[in-house]
Amino acid sequence: MPFAFHAICLAYWFVVGAVIGSFLNVCIYRIPNKESIVKGASHCTTCGEKITKRDLVPIISYFVLRGRCRSCKAPFSIRYALVEFLTGILFVLCALKFKYTVETILMSLFLGALIVMTFIDIDTMTIPDSIHIVILIIGIVLAFVSDMPLLERIIGFFSVSFILFLASVLSKGGIGGGDIKLMAVSGFVLGYKLSVVGFFIGAVLASIFGIVVSKGKRENLKRKIPLGPFLAVGMTVSIFVGKYIVDWYLGLVL
Ligand SMILES: [Zn+2]
Repeated sequence: MPFAFHAICLAYWFVVGAVIGSFLNVCIYRIPNKESIVKGASHCTTCGEKITKRDLVPIISYFVLRGRCRSCKAPFSIRYALVEFLTGILFVLCALKFKYTVETILMSLFLGALIVMTFIDIDTMTIPDSIHIVILIIGIVLAFVSDMPLLERIIGFFSVSFILFLASVLSKGGIGGGDIKLMAVSGFVLGYKLSVVGFFIGAVLASIFGIVVSKGKRENLKRKIPLGPFLAVGMTVSIFVGKYIVDWYLGLVL
């Protein structure tokens, strides 16, 4: 197929990602508040004015409005535009990695779920069960369409989550149940190899972050840093380069 065709498809998938990113923003804001994610139009959180269709264009609207509400001029967080852009970029990376397959769609949705989880965990320090359920459904559909043996997914479900469960028992709740469930369902999506690599990257990043932040203030650190975002970054890196890390590591050992 000609290059121009691929380029148009990728651009299209970026736009789809940005539009879904705008829906993810709704999820990030509404799920912790127990509001419906489908009912009710988007509105300014300061003045309550409905946001019209022309102001709902992902990424672009933010810059057209210079990051402010059209009616009351209250500033919107740049995070809305960033989430839309990030979702678009990750969708394109999935398309480059998985080509014209159903896996592109499913892995893009998985990364979308991780984005929602990341920002809800940052905002509220909890991961809602609805996100675990969505990731599990993505994993079950993947099990039907991909070549990965089912056993690899089942081992993936338990490998990291069981270690986290033990660590949680030993540390008397130092690791939240939400993180354990996240690594269980994500392990089913990724299989045990990529799941273990992703967890390892996430744990290293969280440790580095913990050391940097804890300089000076030592007390109550354990519950102040949400683990979910680091796990999400680790798993995202693992999806795209985890295979090379596994091969490199096996090359060292064998
Ligand atoms: Zn307003």
